[in-house]
Amino acid sequence: MDISQLSVFENRCLINGKWVSSAETLAVSNPLDQSHITDVPLLSEDEIEQAIVDTDIAQKQWKNVAPNERSRILRNWFDLLMQHQDDLATIMTVEQGKPLKEAIGEIAYAASYIEWFSEEAKRSYGDIIPSAASSEILVFKEAIGVCAAITPWNFPAAMITRKVAPALAAGCCIIVKPASETPLTALAIAKLAVQAGIPSGVFNVVTGSSTKIGQIFTAHPLIKKLSFTGSTEIGAKLMAQSAPTVKKLSLELGGNAPVLVFNSAQLDQAVQGVMDTKFRNAGQTCVCANRIYVQSAIYEEFVEKLKVKVEALKLGNGLDVETDIGPLINRKAVKKVEEHIADALDKGASLVVGKAENLEGNWCVPTLVKDVTQDMLCAKEETFGPFAPIFKFETEAEVLAMSNDTEFGLASYVFTQDLNQFIRVARGLEYGMVGINTGLISNAAAPFGGVKSSGIGREGSKYGMDEYLEMKYVCLGNIN
Ligand code: NAP
Repeated sequence: MDISQLSVFENRCLINGKWVSSAETLAVSNPLDQSHITDVPLLSEDEIEQAIVDTDIAQKQWKNVAPNERSRILRNWFDLLMQHQDDLATIMTVEQGKPLKEAIGEIAYAASYIEWFSEEAKRSYGDIIPSAASSEILVFKEAIGVCAAITPWNFPAAMITRKVAPALAAGCCIIVKPASETPLTALAIAKLAVQAGIPSGVFNVVTGSSTKIGQIFTAHPLIKKLSFTGSTEIGAKLMAQSAPTVKKLSLELGGNAPVLVFNSAQLDQAVQGVMDTKFRNAGQTCVCANRIYVQSAIYEEFVEKLKVKVEALKLGNGLDVETDIGPLINRKAVKKVEEHIADALDKGASLVVGKAENLEGNWCVPTLVKDVTQDMLCAKEETFGPFAPIFKFETEAEVLAMSNDTEFGLASYVFTQDLNQFIRVARGLEYGMVGINTGLISNAAAPFGGVKSSGIGREGSKYGMDEYLEMKYVCLGNIN
């Protein structure tokens, strides 16, 4: 598939309304067979600095554009994404590997944030607060200023629109550095942003050395906010780098999601829920089930039912409509999954279905292992691949303790038909998000984010724009 023929294809950076190439480049390859797709610019430090200065100039105009005009432009952008949904998804599948049906779904999901914030643009209400003194307390909500974003490869479109749409709606300009594995989806989306009428300098996409760009973004005084989605390790590093300039931060970091399946669960619903949360994007999502805890009375039946579903998954080229699981993003990702499987089997877990032995390329066969325990690597680390480890538990207190025994706190899932238990467990889980009787929780209307080492801040929902706004307290004195 030659994606360079698609009208939305672009391999240059978007800076201040201009498409910029550079002598030095980064290669982009297809994770399916490692074939070369194209090259994108490896921008110099001076070019990144200049992009920030240009964005700051655009910022002075954009913050004064009327909210309903910002809303109209965002709506145009949403419409264009949906009109080009198939082409954008094809680019995503070729550079990222996920099945086309999932890529099509991600474009709709990414677009839904633009639609949501096109509506929220008109609703950044301030406040008037009653005061005991002879004064009036007013609260203005104002755009924070120039923002920067650094995004991962696993959701090459949605992780960008979740940041850019609220920033633009709030009156902020933004510079995005997409993951080096998946810059083409970002650049295609940027091409549509230009067509939608987003003015020059308001939304910029730069590519290059992540370390250098990260250093410039975090140190630069003109950048008032950094929003990062990626690993906890890099998020913590960027947080430390941002300290000297006291930047506002949003961090969407790693997860280690538990799934709690209680005896009262509807078994087929729980099995489907685990399939949805575990194997989407070949297990490479931050909200993926990482540990599956099943209560003892239903344990064997649950494992048998899940086995049937896992065996039916088809591995292959994401562009093939039959494919359920594409290649992983790179060899390093495959090695990590293999390490987790080997560690579990070495420490006494048993293989139910899948292959523990090495495969060539970026392939990883969906694998189900039972009798997993808390001392195994997969209980502690995010696997980020198609490996489903099943643990057995006896009591609610025991499974809550095991579920919370992690530095992470992003997503969690519970399957139960007991209403009181659902409330108790939802309260007891130390996570930013809890799915009850579902494996699919992402929604533009909901506040997405984590606690503990899974991050700071929320994306989406009525709270999402606050991440890009500052409150200004205005005291009107002596009014009597
Ligand atoms: P990553 O290695 O942290 O990379 C994420 C982004 O950070 C990429 O753009 C990368 O650029 C950049 N980066 C890497 N090193 C950097 C540095 N020293 N300074 C500045 N930027 C740097 O994470 P990943 O492996 O791509 O993504 C997987 C992780 O993201 C998982 O832990 C997953 O759970 C998490 N995630 C979280 C959420 C959420 O909402 N909480 C959503 C999706 C993913 P290059 O590509 O150029 O190296």
